[in-house]
Amino acid sequence: MPTRKIAVLPGDGIGQEVIPEAIKVLRVVAKASGASFEFEEGLVGGAAIDETGGPLPDSTFRLCEASDAILFGAVGGPKWDDFPHERRPERGLLRLRKELDLFANLRPAKCFSMLVEASPLRRSVVEGTDLMVVRELTGGLYFGEPHGIERMADGSAHAVNTMSYTSREIERVARVAFDVARKRRKRLTSVDKANVLVVSQLWREVVTQVARAYPDVALEHVLVDNCAMALVARPTQFDTIVTENTFGDILSDEAAILAGSMGMLPSASLGGRGPTPERGCALYEPVHGTAPDIAGKGVANPIAAILSAAMLLRHSLNMAADAEKVEAGVVRVLEKGYRTADIRQDGTTAVGTSEMGDLIAREVLALY
Ligand code: NAD
Repeated sequence: MPTRKIAVLPGDGIGQEVIPEAIKVLRVVAKASGASFEFEEGLVGGAAIDETGGPLPDSTFRLCEASDAILFGAVGGPKWDDFPHERRPERGLLRLRKELDLFANLRPAKCFSMLVEASPLRRSVVEGTDLMVVRELTGGLYFGEPHGIERMADGSAHAVNTMSYTSREIERVARVAFDVARKRRKRLTSVDKANVLVVSQLWREVVTQVARAYPDVALEHVLVDNCAMALVARPTQFDTIVTENTFGDILSDEAAILAGSMGMLPSASLGGRGPTPERGCALYEPVHGTAPDIAGKGVANPIAAILSAAMLLRHSLNMAADAEKVEAGVVRVLEKGYRTADIRQDGTTAVGTSEMGDLIAREVLALY
């Protein structure tokens, strides 16, 4: 098996604490499966600003381009909050997404049965939730032209954003979503606002066309307002959801509360470079930020980072069976009652970041 190169960008705050735990688990996978991984670390975010003056040094960008996948922590913190727009830590992540054309954002939201009480929803509603939101990440309202505010002479103003999609942009994210649904429970919900927006009418038309190549996947179209209600009323009805940028931003955060804690949520952003979207350069990161309130204390939950590493195995390295072992290792540790502070319940055993990483690594090894 060829050596696979993984760019490691821990970033700031708890990114520096949780990413080493994900690497710990990936090293166990390599040892047990016979795969060969090479990890190379790069600076990004505030750490890069301190060292080089900018949030994404060219050396980091080149490292990412030359790697099979990127494992990213989180960026930002109070120290850099007053920096000018172009030099803020998050510009590093935004530039990576843009230049690597990372157009499909995958965010699973799974409610682990032993953590049901951490969710604000009733057990009867949330138990069994296991869904994936595929959000288009590089088009739509956030990037459409024209945009801006026009100030009038009479003191009034006019602001505009443009929701714009080409059929090609819709088609490529739809294909990713169908591929994802095919590997899950073969049900895809496409979310739009086709009763009002012409962009959504094109979205629906293109997704329906793409569906012809996936006869084994059941497709339904749901309006975004209905979807928002159904996500909290009947979350178990969903398997894979695909939607445009703005709707996906909102719905994926809504879905996140189903899982109980930010510390449990992984994500992947798949790119357009490479022979197929899933073989292109891709970035894997926990959904959470740098958590300045707990950074440096060794208490952050590393599970989101470890589950992001599992997504990396599945989507970039074609190691789905190994990804399942990592996910099963996480479940076993939770079943044994170990918890970081964010998911602590009565009767469980409190552990810190690195102890949680050790426990999961040990369970993963035992699964080979
Ligand atoms: P946050 O996700 O960092 O924290 C929100 C809350 O969740 C905090 O109370 C934190 O302690 C808790 N939390 C988050 N992850 C946790 C974990 N793994 N284990 C235990 N508890 C966890 O969001 P925020 O406070 O809004 O932002 C803090 C900083 O992070 C800001 O500078 C923000 O810009 C940045 N941020 C970065 C990213 C990214 O790099 N992708 C994403 C979101 C926020």
